[in-house]
Amino acid sequence: MATAQQSASNDWQAINGQHHLHPFTDIKDIKEKGALIIESAKGVYLTDSDGDEILDAMAGLWCVNMGYGNPELAQVAQQQMNQLPYYNAFFKTAHPPVAKLSSMLAQLAPKNLNHTFFTSSGSEANDTVIKLARRYWAVQGKPQKNVIISRTNAYHGSTIGAGSLGGMAPMHEHGTVIPDVEHIKQPYWFEACCELGKGITVEEVGKQATQALVERIELLGVDRVAAFIAEPIQGAGGVIIPPDNYWPEIKRICEHYGILLIADEVICGFGRTGQWFGSDYYNLEPDFMPIAKGLSSGYLPIGGVMVSDRVTEVLLEKGGEFNHGYTYSGHPVCAAVAVANIELMQRTNIVETVNDKTAPYLQKAWAKLAEHPLVGEARGLGMLGALELVQDKAAFKRFDSDQGVGMICRDHCINEKLMMRAVGDIMIISPPLVMQESDIDTLVERAHKALDLTQKTLAT
Ligand SMILES: *Cc1c(COP(=O)(O)O)cnc(C)c1O
Repeated sequence: MATAQQSASNDWQAINGQHHLHPFTDIKDIKEKGALIIESAKGVYLTDSDGDEILDAMAGLWCVNMGYGNPELAQVAQQQMNQLPYYNAFFKTAHPPVAKLSSMLAQLAPKNLNHTFFTSSGSEANDTVIKLARRYWAVQGKPQKNVIISRTNAYHGSTIGAGSLGGMAPMHEHGTVIPDVEHIKQPYWFEACCELGKGITVEEVGKQATQALVERIELLGVDRVAAFIAEPIQGAGGVIIPPDNYWPEIKRICEHYGILLIADEVICGFGRTGQWFGSDYYNLEPDFMPIAKGLSSGYLPIGGVMVSDRVTEVLLEKGGEFNHGYTYSGHPVCAAVAVANIELMQRTNIVETVNDKTAPYLQKAWAKLAEHPLVGEARGLGMLGALELVQDKAAFKRFDSDQGVGMICRDHCINEKLMMRAVGDIMIISPPLVMQESDIDTLVERAHKALDLTQKTLAT
């Protein structure tokens, strides 16, 4: 007989299945199998509607950096809702939370970034950055300098603008790609090895990927190119960590040609690499930093674009209205929670703890998973990790994508009470920054078990 809790869980599944259209989900699949209903969460654990606790190795969607159930953030939201739940920033008006947050961000970010345009999401931030980058050149009499170069397999969000910047083919379905966006090679060592069927040096991969930028700029003509956009570490593409020679050379190329550099910090920002920003980790001084996710630890939707002095100076000097904005740009409750989240991060020294303790511990344990027969590469940096599941390690041979090995492994993970994500046959993690060493042990144990079970499934 079903327990009362199980039947409640079936009710939510049924209601959800009838009326909710899920993002990035096969509608037929979810109707047949039902969604996993998450009812509550505390720290780094989710509780589903059967009462089972699941270790969240993804921090929600790369965002719940400070963990679930923080009472301080909830209190700040309530207080701000009582005081001023909403007002806009269109009418030459502002409010204390947005002013405070802008100034805190200017303090935290690389020193050349001192202004922020607010949005409610990373996608909106990237739509904004397209307009800002193009405007920077247009007000200087160069409206034709409007091409943005991005990378294959990049993820910059899913609105039409941000989706166009992204470099994943399925994101370009629906015939909705905007013009004047170009894509070049990504610096992806393991994939390069798989394509060749043998090892190649990381330096060579870095060199080819930076050369691709030079070639594209030369092909288009520098008079056409506004900016280059990239995630410091590609997240949704599969936690792809660039070779050491990649970023210094990209930075040099952008400076050499005088094109704007956009570092999409939506995942890397707010401590994920063990530094406040991916740009700190790689010593970049980008012209724009789209931010979101960890800005509020996912407690409320807020994002933005941080803008460099060189860009703001031109925009100030030329004047004129920037015809762009969102009803919820700089929403007071979201901004107040982001302020409280950053204060919490500072007070608990979380970024230092990640850098000195948690990330090294995670990376050491994670690297051991490379010994598993299914794992072609176990890579990671900061609080990010990936496992490449392969058919034949020595030959760099991946599985046939029809086999759905990543999905098989992901299902085993969830059965083992571990929330880990699959991107094709790459298993990825992005745990909350507040994860303790004992939770990391549990994470790696469960991942190991799921790999064993995946191997068993494949053998039958
Ligand atoms: C998630 C993500 C986005 C999009 O953010 P949303 O809030 O989902 O719109 C943009 N860029 C990167 C690098 C991301 O990981």
